Amino acid sequence: MDSFLREFKDKNRAELLWLRALYQCVVGLVGPEPSPPAEHRVLLLALGAVRALRQTLGSHCDALPLSYRPVSVCELVRRQLVPCCSQLTWSNSQYCEWAADAERLQPEDVALPRENLLLVGYITDREIETSECDGILRAKDANASVNCMMISPSPMWLDQFVLFPSWSFIPHRSCGLIQDMKGHLEIGASPIPLVLQGASQNLQGTFTDLLGVGEAARYLQQSHRHRGVRLHVCGHVSAVCPLLEIAGKRLFCFSLREGENSVPVVVPGVLTRVLDAEGGLFELDGKVGLCVAYQPLQEMACSFRPGAQIELHNAHFLHRPSPHGPAALLCLCLRSSLRVTAFSRVQSKPLACPSPTTALLRVLLQNHLGISQYLWLCHCVTMLKERLCPRWIRAERVAVVAGRVLSCLLPPDPHSWQCRRDIYMEMLEEPHSCPLSQYRESDPQVDLLSVEQLRLWMEAESWASLSLPSLLPPSAPHLTRAELNPLLSWSVDTRGAWSLPIPLVVVGVLGACVRRGCLQLRDQTGSVDLVAVERRGGSYGAVSDTAWLGRLVCVQHLTLVMEKFLNTDFPSWTQLDQDLITHRHCRVYIQLCVDDLQVLSPWSGTMSFRDALQQEAGAAGNQGTSRDRKGMGGNSAGKSDREQPEEPTTTGARQQDRKERARQEEDETPAPAKKPRRADDWSHLEQEEDWSSEAGGQEQDHSLPRAQRSHVQVQQRSDTTAPSACVSLAFCVESKDGLTSQNIHAAAAETGHSVCFRMSIVVLGDVQRWKENPRNCPLESRESAGGALPKMDVQFVGSSVCWFPLLHPGSAYRLVAPHTQDPTLLCGTPVSVKQGVVLHSAPSLLIQPHWRFYTLPPSPRLSGLLQEARPRKHAILSVSEVLYCSTLLDLVSFEGLISQRTHLQQKGRTAGHPQNHGPKGLPVSVRLTVQDLSSPGQWIHVYLDLSERLYIPGLLPGARVLFSAFQCVVSRVRNVYCRSVPLSCITVNALGQVHCRQDPPGPRPPTVLLGEWVQDGAQRCIVGQVRVHIVVLLFLQLQWTCSLCGSIFKQDSCTRSTSSCTSHSAVFQAEAKAAVEDGSGEAHVWFPSHLTAPLLALGAAEWEGLQRSVRVRGHVRVHRGRNVVDAADLDDPLLHYLSCLCMCAAVCRPLTLSCQLKHRSQKALHLQDGSIQPKRVPRGDREFVTRVASPLQLTCTELSEWEPCL
Ligand SMILES: [Zn+2]
Ligand SMILES: [Zn+2]
Repeated sequence: MDSFLREFKDKNRAELLWLRALYQCVVGLVGPEPSPPAEHRVLLLALGAVRALRQTLGSHCDALPLSYRPVSVCELVRRQLVPCCSQLTWSNSQYCEWAADAERLQPEDVALPRENLLLVGYITDREIETSECDGILRAKDANASVNCMMISPSPMWLDQFVLFPSWSFIPHRSCGLIQDMKGHLEIGASPIPLVLQGASQNLQGTFTDLLGVGEAARYLQQSHRHRGVRLHVCGHVSAVCPLLEIAGKRLFCFSLREGENSVPVVVPGVLTRVLDAEGGLFELDGKVGLCVAYQPLQEMACSFRPGAQIELHNAHFLHRPSPHGPAALLCLCLRSSLRVTAFSRVQSKPLACPSPTTALLRVLLQNHLGISQYLWLCHCVTMLKERLCPRWIRAERVAVVAGRVLSCLLPPDPHSWQCRRDIYMEMLEEPHSCPLSQYRESDPQVDLLSVEQLRLWMEAESWASLSLPSLLPPSAPHLTRAELNPLLSWSVDTRGAWSLPIPLVVVGVLGACVRRGCLQLRDQTGSVDLVAVERRGGSYGAVSDTAWLGRLVCVQHLTLVMEKFLNTDFPSWTQLDQDLITHRHCRVYIQLCVDDLQVLSPWSGTMSFRDALQQEAGAAGNQGTSRDRKGMGGNSAGKSDREQPEEPTTTGARQQDRKERARQEEDETPAPAKKPRRADDWSHLEQEEDWSSEAGGQEQDHSLPRAQRSHVQVQQRSDTTAPSACVSLAFCVESKDGLTSQNIHAAAAETGHSVCFRMSIVVLGDVQRWKENPRNCPLESRESAGGALPKMDVQFVGSSVCWFPLLHPGSAYRLVAPHTQDPTLLCGTPVSVKQGVVLHSAPSLLIQPHWRFYTLPPSPRLSGLLQEARPRKHAILSVSEVLYCSTLLDLVSFEGLISQRTHLQQKGRTAGHPQNHGPKGLPVSVRLTVQDLSSPGQWIHVYLDLSERLYIPGLLPGARVLFSAFQCVVSRVRNVYCRSVPLSCITVNALGQVHCRQDPPGPRPPTVLLGEWVQDGAQRCIVGQVRVHIVVLLFLQLQWTCSLCGSIFKQDSCTRSTSSCTSHSAVFQAEAKAAVEDGSGEAHVWFPSHLTAPLLALGAAEWEGLQRSVRVRGHVRVHRGRNVVDAADLDDPLLHYLSCLCMCAAVCRPLTLSCQLKHRSQKALHLQDGSIQPKRVPRGDREFVTRVASPLQLTCTELSEWEPCL
């Protein structure tokens, strides 16, 4: 130091202090040991620095830049936390001008602040640890290094100590930790070496035998003859390919051309925006996109900051490659190169620096994505981040999940091998071919909606397409106000998301709502209720696999349903165009089959039904070859072990499989798996919101050998319970009640009503202790010890209600209580009635919020037990069995197909239940017409009181529904119907698909002969199709009815006598009764208004004329018996005309009719009332008396002309 300072004897104290600092800085550059030779080197370098400074500032200037603090690389990297620039030669005004210029060009950003720092360092292109040349320039000192970006780097600067006169430092904030904080230097002006070099060698002068490119190429083609020969080639560099890293080696290619005649395509531009830093998408000049994803990203990409000027060589220009990207896109492949020609002057937000390890780029490379697919992938990543990150997907996993979504949506491409990239061909082959030159539009043509968007879309779509006339039946023109408005009060709209012009797709998490006890699909934007079924063989059933909770799924095949509730006050059909809707309200939910879902998260260490079924199928052949491994204390289980042997290879394979899955999960778990595994992992169950995070697979290790699991009967209860220890109970559901709201609570502190339900279960064996949660592994022998199968009442209150949609009678589950080894918890308590009196009934168990249910996978052992425990209490009947039950049951359970849903207007009643959300005046009572599954001619009415219960989605025409515990009632006219009681439970087993009202909801009614129908009555069928001949019209009534009060309407006024009715609207109503026969028997058929005109075979003009002539007198009625004509009618032309009509050949013709029995209990009436009347039949001079069953009374619902059979 002293020898250095001696050189500057004329300097003042301040200058000497500054020189001292500079010297220290140079010491840091060289290394710590001040041994004499190093000291000499430091002296030379320090003097060199002063010389370099003078050279920079101008040789005439002797003053030292005292305002600049000398700084080493190490100090800069550690201390400089914000971006900055340093310009040694600039004055303040020069900087201000530069900054103002920068901010003018990038108005949204702020110019880099200026720091007066004097930076010295050593430039190298070797990796610090391995000392291998890797093509990256770095500035370093003895303690630290930082990557350098240079506009036009020169090989002359390599391995030199230099002074940087102009630079910017951009710190990176990759990890948020100070130690890891790195950055990069952008070197604007050429660095100045501290040690002077000799003149550079004249390269051209040293080689005498330089070859041209053509000559060299010819030479190389004969390389077998010239092995090991060293050539010197000269040419013009035409393309520089990017730096690649293959198998740990870095390399790059460039092309040489002869002469300078080929002009490379160069596109200059200013980078204006970073569209997606991770995905390598930028914007140039505010209008053109730039995609660098198809190049392995160089470290240079760090300096792609807004404001940087760049130059593209050999870039591809693509027009509208995807709707999710810029209209015009410049895209770089392995033949292209990009050069930063001027660094950005502004400080932008800290960027996630792209690197080849970016998950997005890995997906691109692994799946050989085309550009349109890649742009879709980037779009998907953005969407998933918004909707599922961080609650369900970790930020670093989003790209992987997006990759899975993409592969779900893309049809398998048989030509994908053609898209495989051959990097050498891509870089070198002529003509050039690469994924970008072969691009075609192949991104998934779908709309990736959030849950909230999906809901809003359906609401908007459904209200927009609301057409009142389409909601009404063909009889609508004849309906009065009282008949018309209830038909409008409920309607349903469905849309198949996959069948839309642009299909809708949602990515979400399956969960269960604790307030309404239904399944939901969720993301961060919201949730939508879900009616889900699963395939069971050739049929469907309600979802019973609890492993679906928390699954992250991609849903393509979903049906959007909107149930619309309208309060209307239309006087008649003709006023439907007026604005007379007083209230509107809707419910949106989705319907799907879980087998159509694409699961994006791995099944978290649990065995799914599918796995189990596969394994069962696989193991079936090997059964009985060896013994099950016993549990550690499996003394009582030993016997049954022998009876139910299990195949160890399968078990081994299963464990292997589990390990594999656990590993995969560790790698792939999208949910917050980073969350440390806490002792109270289960606490999240207490909140609905955390439900799905369970899927996160905090429970990974499922590979624990069975021998390590403990048995309850031998192990002493210890207070030092392992955090993962638990007790379990295997059971089968016998019956389940509906959800109700009652004044009971899970915790003492709660008040008010809570939602709850009760279940009756058959316990399959003793409570078991486990060291690890067994989850849904197959039923073990010790869990079903045999013997009597006791029953238990299970009560669900509050948040445990979330299990409601997944627990079904006939299915088997394992109930697990975590963090305990106390088996008494799950034993249930005897029901105490009053004052210590114990009722001798099944014990009852209150489910705690943190307990979990796991669906047991099918196994031979389980199916045997289920046979034994088969629920007997509520056998499931068919609709016919309910109708014609010999013993009248009070409560019945039956399954049927909904064919019609009608809302009944109940004046003065409103939805009593707080969660029913029924606005005032909306119907709260629903009538469902439920068809028998096997005989479509039978149906029953089911009345549901919605005011007493939570709303049940999915009760749509076409749905197959299980009605449990409904009250069976016989009406005054001996019709059998069912109505809900508070216990009643409804399960949708197969989904209804309604597209429009015209769709026939169920199967066609059966074709019957009248003779057979009259014999068997309703038991034959309630609805049927008959092919008959009209014998005569017995009765015909035509009238104008006041649409408000129902009185006769004459001319322009209502004829109501008791109080004045000011109605101006009337509807034309008609009714006809015809005698028909089909050879086997005869019937009387009643025709409603809308079928009268077709029955009378009248055209529209004739029918209208008839209506006009009736208007004058209000109403007209004609009675006709067979062969009887009333002479009085002959005077009245209208009556005369109608009388003739009743018998004319045009009317009395063959027809095909769909009919319904007028009285459902007709058969019973026949037998009990002795309604078979004696009838006198005159034949010549004699009279015969015979007993003839009175004809069948039918109501016609559909009429068509008889098409003769061929
Ligand atoms: Zn290319
Ligand atoms: Zn009236």
